[in-house]
Amino acid sequence: MQEIMKLTALQLGAAIRRGEVSPTEAVKAALERIEETAGDNAFTEITAERALERAAWAEKELAAGRLAGPLAGVPMALKDNICTRGVSTTCASRILAGFRPPYDATLVERLEGAGAVSLGKLNMDEFAMGSTSETSFLGPVRNPWDRKRVPGGSSGGAAAAVAARSSWYAIGSDTGGSISQPAAFCGVTGIKPTYGTVSRYGLIAYASSLDQMGPLARDAADCAAVLDLVMGRDPRDGTSLDVPAGGLLASLTGDVRGLRIGLPRECFGEGLDSAVRACVLAAADVLRDRGAELVPLSFPMMEYVIPTYYIIACAEASSNLSRFDGVKYGWRAEGYGDLRELYQQTRTEGFGPEVRRRILLGTFVLSSGYYDAYYLKALRAKGMIKRALDEAFCQCDVMLTPTAPAAAPRLGESLSDPLRMYLSDIDTVPVNLAGLPGLSMPCGFDETGLPVGAQLIGPPLGEKNVLNAAHAFQMETDWHTRAPAEKEVG
Ligand code: GLN
Repeated sequence: MQEIMKLTALQLGAAIRRGEVSPTEAVKAALERIEETAGDNAFTEITAERALERAAWAEKELAAGRLAGPLAGVPMALKDNICTRGVSTTCASRILAGFRPPYDATLVERLEGAGAVSLGKLNMDEFAMGSTSETSFLGPVRNPWDRKRVPGGSSGGAAAAVAARSSWYAIGSDTGGSISQPAAFCGVTGIKPTYGTVSRYGLIAYASSLDQMGPLARDAADCAAVLDLVMGRDPRDGTSLDVPAGGLLASLTGDVRGLRIGLPRECFGEGLDSAVRACVLAAADVLRDRGAELVPLSFPMMEYVIPTYYIIACAEASSNLSRFDGVKYGWRAEGYGDLRELYQQTRTEGFGPEVRRRILLGTFVLSSGYYDAYYLKALRAKGMIKRALDEAFCQCDVMLTPTAPAAAPRLGESLSDPLRMYLSDIDTVPVNLAGLPGLSMPCGFDETGLPVGAQLIGPPLGEKNVLNAAHAFQMETDWHTRAPAEKEVG
């Protein structure tokens, strides 16, 4: 691995502005590293030629003084459910094989406008449904810390690429923890911002009321720099918020004196791995020692978050995925008789078992007779969960919890028991149900040497405090600088 792969995104950006490294050199080093770590299966598509063209463009713009931002010329990669003009976008599903969108997502436009250079598209759970990145039609992603383990999901390719030092940062999407949880499993930092702050235009929908994109990177400062580029109102997304954006990187002081950090009792109870508990509580102590105040809290709605999330997410997915019918995009079955058969055969061949399960679950909870009993009830529960969290934020400024109850499971372990996999999302789904910002940062290792993540949650638009608390923690500790041993990565 070349030395520049070890830099953070901001460090590389600074080296590029000083003229010590060119974007083209950075792209070449990354492509070499991607090749070395190809066994991790983190990418669905590597766009080498395009990356080199974009790097040459960024170089010219930098030289002319038209690009000067902290991440100008820095290469990155995008989860494969983010639309990229002319570049394959599959959601890791056969049903979108061959799909090349005619447009870029707003986020892609904004990043590229600021001089970001995309290396390619990242592997994931099919349609972002999952917690392990094993359901991709291109095969499972591997965790660079232990290649027999999953990297988490659904943004597993994004987390694995950043952990293996093959991209300086990556963009993932999060519907119920798909940025935070893989960040935790792979020992990197990731944040899902407040719902509505990053445009969803061009993000292929899983559950529209919960989906949000965000960065996975080496540390909180890199995440803040990326968010500064992508947050902000977009008239093409009806749920986009009209609030001031930017200034997050500049606001990172590391000063947490007087910050009230809530510790919800329910997140530290039964079912939590003891090493995870110890690491997260130690993180709380680090922040307390820097002047934060720890506030014990209760969040009794915790027992309802999983059923509420899975009913709403599947209901929305069943509606969103009905557009994949073999007519408009991607895969089309052959040898069908009539239109009905075309739909049926295309979907049977195109969707994997987890996606089919969720479409069926969603269709069931939305069907007449069950709509009131399941879907409406889940919507009411969602409202109650949001209110309970609003109240908790009267007592604290941010909350600290484990990101997941345990470190990464072995490959294959979760596929046979979907319910167990759903239950492991307990700590992250409340964040999406209430539309809050949620960040995961590395805070130690379990006894088998796997990374453990701590989750910081803020009230709506509370990104500053969340990122600053993580930054304070990272000024004091070096968990975020640890990389998987070279021999295990290859
Ligand atoms: N693991 C959750 C699910 O399977 C979350 C996925 C996500 O955030 N995209 O639905």
